Amino acid sequence: MTERRVRVRFAPSPTGALHIGGVRTALYNYLFARQHGGDLIFRIEDTDSNRFVPGAEEYILESFKWLGIPFDEGVGFGGEHGPYRQSERRDIYKKYVQILLDAGKAYIAFDTPAELEAKRTEIANFQYDASTRMQMRNSLTLPKEEVDALIAEGKQYVVRFKIEPNEDVHVNDLIRGEVVINSSILDDKVLYKSADELPTYHLANIVDDHLMEVSHVIRGEEWLPSAPLHVLLYRAFDWEDTMPVFAHLPLLLKPEGNGKLSKRDGDRLGFPVFPLEWHDPKTGEVSSGYRESGYLPEAVINFLALLGWNPGNDQELMSVDELVQLFNLSHCSKSGAKFDYKKGVWFNHEYIMMKPDEEIASLFKPVLKANGINVDLYSDVFLTKVVSLVKGRVNFVKELWEQTRFFFVAPTEYAEKDVKKRWSEDTPRIMGELMEVLRGIDDFSSKASEDIVIGWITEMGYHMGNVMNAFRLSVVGECKGPHMFDITELLGKEDTLARIQRAVETLK
Ligand code: GLU
Repeated sequence: MTERRVRVRFAPSPTGALHIGGVRTALYNYLFARQHGGDLIFRIEDTDSNRFVPGAEEYILESFKWLGIPFDEGVGFGGEHGPYRQSERRDIYKKYVQILLDAGKAYIAFDTPAELEAKRTEIANFQYDASTRMQMRNSLTLPKEEVDALIAEGKQYVVRFKIEPNEDVHVNDLIRGEVVINSSILDDKVLYKSADELPTYHLANIVDDHLMEVSHVIRGEEWLPSAPLHVLLYRAFDWEDTMPVFAHLPLLLKPEGNGKLSKRDGDRLGFPVFPLEWHDPKTGEVSSGYRESGYLPEAVINFLALLGWNPGNDQELMSVDELVQLFNLSHCSKSGAKFDYKKGVWFNHEYIMMKPDEEIASLFKPVLKANGINVDLYSDVFLTKVVSLVKGRVNFVKELWEQTRFFFVAPTEYAEKDVKKRWSEDTPRIMGELMEVLRGIDDFSSKASEDIVIGWITEMGYHMGNVMNAFRLSVVGECKGPHMFDITELLGKEDTLARIQRAVETLK
């Protein structure tokens, strides 16, 4: 038998912002597809019109654009299996619903919500299934003429899947192994509703996976309970030979480890659970996103890749290409993955360190602008050097501002506790001498000026710490920051001297 081409899909419902767990699902699908030279499909499952949220589809697309996860086909990408938006596939589903009806594997049910409710009160633990369906108002119990008449009258109905009881249903899952359940616990699921002429998730999902030639269904654990029903649907259609292989990914758990990760955990502990900032069109509520919070997409990907999978050793930093090489569905864990958001911060720091300084500098420009700095006054070389001096100290690009503001704005105030400690009566005189020494330096580069200044301090017998700290206080405004002579090299002689002059005048 020839190997089947790997085709996987990410199939979100546009019901709001994409949860970070959904991002991980898409990522695993992407890694798997690329590893096998297969295709990744983007399908929109919007058959539940009540839950449709405007803007959600665009939001999801933009999220993956930001993350650098491209799809091979689907909504927004084209392809030969379209349309890829389920609301545009009504006629296709109708045809397949009819196939099941004609084969006697599904039936039409007219029970109204009130009638169903009445049954629920009458029968404890009522379930619409083989044990009850013959007591209900459906095409199995009503004469054909009546069924036709009701439909002709425009009475609303649903199509239900006729599940045969007492059958073991086997689901083969790459992560969970073989899961067996008995069909008697399943109810006759609604596959189609005449009210909106749309199928339910189950039917649309199966028909599309089949028609789109999906080879592997990789999705969140919350869909595992649907899998037996899906297996039965494949069987009902006689599609068992091309049934996709299932892989149900472990849940993302709260950082503390108990229970499912929710948006509330993010609000409570201060981390985003969405890739991008989300403005809820109904409530107006704004939720933070990884992008707006300053995470690098590469860091988010690396972080998510390890939530539920590991390469079998303790390697943590992996590029997307390495992830593609190493990823392995059967190494995914069965148990939930704690959402260690602090690890996400760590990854961001590591990716800032790995990225070339020029790149970080260009990411820093908007931050500078937001802080009122005219970035056109600074060369890229200057900005890159500034970044290189402090990037080890930050977890986010925006934190560079606190570390570097003195490069762009000369101090006019000086940290009080540092002044108390480092500025004494004869400091102005010594700073005056220091200015003379600096003025005489031709090569103002870090090492050269350091040698001269340190030489002078030693020769004069001054206290190294006092002089250097007063110098730093004058130039930076406080006694912290990167290496002093790296700072003065970047500021240049004129600016350095002006700053010392101002400190002397201000502090006296
Ligand atoms: N529409 C479902 C969702 O929102 C898809 C589940 C599946 O992948 O089968 O996640």
